[in-house]
This record gives sequence, C-alpha cells and structure tokens, in this order.
Amino acid sequence: MILMKNIIREGHKTLETVAKEVKLPLSPADKKLLKEMLEFVMNSQDDEMVEKYDLRPAVGIAAPQVNVSKRMFAAHVTDFDGIQYSYALVNPVLKYKSKEIIYVPGGEGCLSVDRPTEGITPRYKSVTFEALSYDIISDQLIPVELHLEGYVGIVFQHEFDHINGIMFTTKLFAELPFAEPAFHISEENDII
Ligand code: ZN
Repeated sequence: MILMKNIIREGHKTLETVAKEVKLPLSPADKKLLKEMLEFVMNSQDDEMVEKYDLRPAVGIAAPQVNVSKRMFAAHVTDFDGIQYSYALVNPVLKYKSKEIIYVPGGEGCLSVDRPTEGITPRYKSVTFEALSYDIISDQLIPVELHLEGYVGIVFQHEFDHINGIMFTTKLFAELPFAEPAFHISEENDII
C-alpha cells in the first residue's frame, strides 16, 4: 500500500516532468498502482486509517507523486449534490475547458507540498476529460467522458497538472479579479 513515505515532495525532478502515455493493455504493475492510488485516497478519508498509517487527508493522487512518470491518477471526491466521483484514470485528455475561471478560496494543498502556501490558483469552472477508467472490481478499462464542474473539476485539473509536470505552487496568485470562488464541503478537502 502507498504510505506518506512513498510520496515524493516538491523539488523532485519527476514532479516537474511530463509523464509518458501508459501502454495498453495495462501491465500488472500499472493495474496494481491504479488500485493502490485509489485505495490511498479512500483510506486518507477514513479517520481510523489516517490514525493507523499517519496519512494526510487527500482527494486525489497522481502516479508521478509516487515517482512513476506515467499518465495515471486517482481521485475520490464528493460534490455538493452528494454525487461521488471515484476514478482511477489512464491517459486522460482535456477535451473542453470553460472560459470562466474559479479557485479554491483558501488555496489548494498537495501531498507533495509540506509547507504552507499563500495564494489562489486559477482553474477552469467546467472541464471535460476523456480517459480510460480502470474498474478495479471487474479488472476492465472503460472509456469515459467526464463533465466536471466546480470543486470536483478543480481536483481533476490539479491531478491532470501533475501528469504534465506542473505543481500548483507555480500557479499562485494574490488575487484573481475575474474569477469566482469555488465552494466545497470541508476544509479537509483542500489537500489535493
Ligand atoms: Zn498535488
């Protein structure tokens, strides 16, 4: 299983490298990593697991954060309507981005950034990703088109940035005059 000690931190070259396309069919190692990434995020939202394994609460993790430079990430996040988005994605492509810009009011956080940061990060208000979704139970790759808005969309954009070697710390602004705040469920969800 993935633990905090397996996560590389800012300054590591892998976090600044554009990750490679995942070769298909998935290798056993890639399948294992997809499962472990999703499990890590889910465990990090479970108080007992957090205490037992000293996890930092998170809503997403990308393969480069465990020093695997491949285009894969996992996210497990619930939106205002109570809809849960739980995905382990392979080779995601950003197909659409809105003109409108939003941001997390308290600023974003990241498992690979241990220090407090100041500033807000511009994100598209709505996005569409095409990807292959790895279904752990059936062991199948399923093509998906995900239309995401608001905070959930921000989470996926943060992870998508990781596979392009982009850290949110390179996109910090004191203010964004034309952007709207994206409200979300809890402060804990800031760590993405
Ligand atoms: Zn991050």
